[in-house]
Amino acid sequence: MDSYRHKGLRAQLVAELKQKGIRSQKVLDAIMAVPRHLFLDKAFEEWAYKDNAFPIDCEQTISQPYTVAVQTELLDVQPKDKILEIGLGSGYQACVLLELGAKVYSIERHKQLHDKTALRLKKIGYGAIRTFYGDGFLGLERFAPFDKILITAAAPEIPQALINQLKIGGILVVPLNQGSNQKMIRLIKQDENKLVKEKHGDFRFVPMLKGTE
Ligand code: SAH
Repeated sequence: MDSYRHKGLRAQLVAELKQKGIRSQKVLDAIMAVPRHLFLDKAFEEWAYKDNAFPIDCEQTISQPYTVAVQTELLDVQPKDKILEIGLGSGYQACVLLELGAKVYSIERHKQLHDKTALRLKKIGYGAIRTFYGDGFLGLERFAPFDKILITAAAPEIPQALINQLKIGGILVVPLNQGSNQKMIRLIKQDENKLVKEKHGDFRFVPMLKGTE
């Protein structure tokens, strides 16, 4: 499944991410640990270690490694953190979070994509990720509160349900719509009524949509 050739390509990708400004060694190590080629169909394996987003099922995408690295750095993942991801997609980002020692919950609104990814994660040894088919705008009330929440689709606003499901002191990272692209926002919930927001550059994501399919 994994091989020296793949590991070599991955090491090159990690060097590229470092050069592009990713500083956290823990994040780089987690990216080194996850065999990204197993998240693409066999025919596209060659593309897995380029720093590009790539189409997956249901007209969705596996995020660009640089974007995954930036979002993961902003989350400041600590071992045992309980993290909710909105937008399971291929499952790649969820695996990076798991490699950092987090407890990962991830929601996907496409049934077909959810089921295919859940199966893949079990097959490749990432069965500890808890996946859910549903609408991420609602969060996951029965497992709340979360230490961290990561939205991996372009959001029109920061869903109030998700802010409610975040612990005090928790961090939420979200690409927020702004014209034709998104501004990466890190929100820190200092207390019930005090939300601190920081801006972290422009990105491009597929849209966060209401309801399920
Ligand atoms: N984290 C993924 C990126 C997938 S792209 C990865 O590493 O591959 C974003 C994903 O968010 C898509 O699969 C899309 O179907 C999903 N999505 C969009 N809106 C959603 C919502 N309201 N709830 C849950 N998932 C959503």
